[in-house]
Amino acid sequence: MNPGSVQRILYIPFDQLHRNYGVLKDADKATDVIAMIESQAMVTGANWHPERLFFLISSARHFAQDLQDEGFTVDYRKATNTPTGLQEIQKKYKGLPIICAEQSSFRLTEKLTSLKAEFIPNDFFLTPRDLFASWADSQKSFLMENFYRKQRVRLNILMEGDQPAGGAWNFDKDNRLPPPKNYTWPAYLEHTRDEIDNEVATELKISPTTTWATTRKGALAQLDYFIKKHFAHFGPYEDAMALDSWSLHHSLLSPYLNNGLLHPAEVIKAAEKAFKTGKVPIESAEAFVRQIIGWREYVNGMYWFLGPEYRNHNQLQATRKLLPLFENPNATQMNCIKSTVTNINERAWVHHIPRLMLLSNLALVTGTNPQEFLEWMRRVFIDATDWVMVPNIIGMGVHADGGLMMTKPYAAGGAYISRMSNYCKGCAYNPKLRTGDTACPFTTLYWDFLDRHKETFAKNHRMSQQVFGLNRLSDLPELKEHAQEVLEGLEKGLI
Ligand SMILES: Cc1cc2nc3c(=O)[nH]c(=O)nc-3n(C[C@H](O)[C@H](O)[C@H](O)COP(=O)(O)OP(=O)(O)OC[C@H]3O[C@@H](n4cnc5c(N)ncnc54)[C@H](O)[C@@H]3O)c2cc1C
Ligand code: SF4
Repeated sequence: MNPGSVQRILYIPFDQLHRNYGVLKDADKATDVIAMIESQAMVTGANWHPERLFFLISSARHFAQDLQDEGFTVDYRKATNTPTGLQEIQKKYKGLPIICAEQSSFRLTEKLTSLKAEFIPNDFFLTPRDLFASWADSQKSFLMENFYRKQRVRLNILMEGDQPAGGAWNFDKDNRLPPPKNYTWPAYLEHTRDEIDNEVATELKISPTTTWATTRKGALAQLDYFIKKHFAHFGPYEDAMALDSWSLHHSLLSPYLNNGLLHPAEVIKAAEKAFKTGKVPIESAEAFVRQIIGWREYVNGMYWFLGPEYRNHNQLQATRKLLPLFENPNATQMNCIKSTVTNINERAWVHHIPRLMLLSNLALVTGTNPQEFLEWMRRVFIDATDWVMVPNIIGMGVHADGGLMMTKPYAAGGAYISRMSNYCKGCAYNPKLRTGDTACPFTTLYWDFLDRHKETFAKNHRMSQQVFGLNRLSDLPELKEHAQEVLEGLEKGLI
């Protein structure tokens, strides 16, 4: 295209890679130039998990290539940082305006605003930010379930007239089975690597796994695989953790939903279509729909509603440094944590229960600093983005907001983990014991945590029963002493 005929610069960040949404939906090949920036500040700014960096960069380069093949002029460039790259492009095109969809983080919004970019609404979600804010403004407490029911009606998903399909809004009680015994899990879908992938891998000096697709085609194949092989069984084992399967029946779609290769509307459409064939039970269909139109939209809405300072909350005044076991699975003998961190190191993913009831629970009961924990989680997960990590960690994971988002902390001892997984059998520790050398660290630290914060939690009606349970512990002084030993052992990487 002749540079003289360019009229607009359309900026595509690496998490808006969809042809039909954002600024691309009404892009004009004759007059628009597409700007994409590989920010070196982003690449080298943190010790990112290599799978994550590879996935983000390779997906963006594939997307740029697809646009070029379609006839667009794409200015994809490496630059010191995003604003510098965009300024270079603006210079080339004589100061033309930058147009983009609203960004997905406060930080990027600020950067683009300082470049006087024009924003169009972000349609990568199903809920406009102002609609969410008007719901949240009208609530006493921000119960996800209330938001979710409104979403079902508003979007007309799994509805029979004005009633929920299957006669109930929520089948959560049917979704708490432990891992099945003697069960054959479907094989994992592998994604083959092409020239662009190999080029990125060589630049990053890594050998990526075949777990994550880096193209729209691959993302659609993952969606199709989930619908055919996993969807029907998704619900019942949703919360289970198993040594013999790293993903159980989870969809593995979050990376593509978060970088734009898939839109939530496409995922919901495929799920509804499958449900209508009658082969997917309501407890699986409802559970999955709840994740996509409920949790995902709720978390994004809360990120914008709660504002940029929300990430700094530390209401429980947790100051411990990040424990070595988060980086190094050999720094612990706890089977559940060793296995989870090994899985993360391998492919940058574990499902929501290890994230919540193992990693966050451990950070919570050990009093780990929320911001240090948040930074670690953002570095190591394939699907980590600011809007999703901040509410999930600060609000849900470590209760650092004092209950603004979730009314009670997700603290649990070894009994919960033992019930929902098969980790405990092969562990050096015993989930039933709270004192002694073989006591489960989770069990000991759970009671210690409740005791440390009993004055705060006694005022919370959803926690008072748990706090009351402390009165039944005749060995509390001994347990408190043992908790100190456990914390010291964890810091030294010996527990
Ligand atoms: C402490 C903690 C941290 C998390 N960090 C992230 C993160 O960085 N990025 C991320 O995408 N998800 C995050 N989640 C949510 C959830 O763990 C992942 O979305 C899910 O494990 C991704 O795997 P999947 O695609 O197989 O999900 P499935 O179990 O198949 O669920 C389907 C989809 O529902 C959506 N979803 C479900 N729960 C949530 C939620 N709480 N928040 C947002 N979306 C949700 C995801 O898009 C997911 O792909 C976090 C949850 C917790 C408790
Ligand atoms: S006994 Fe405790 S530390 Fe060991 S696997 Fe079970 S919950 Fe984890």
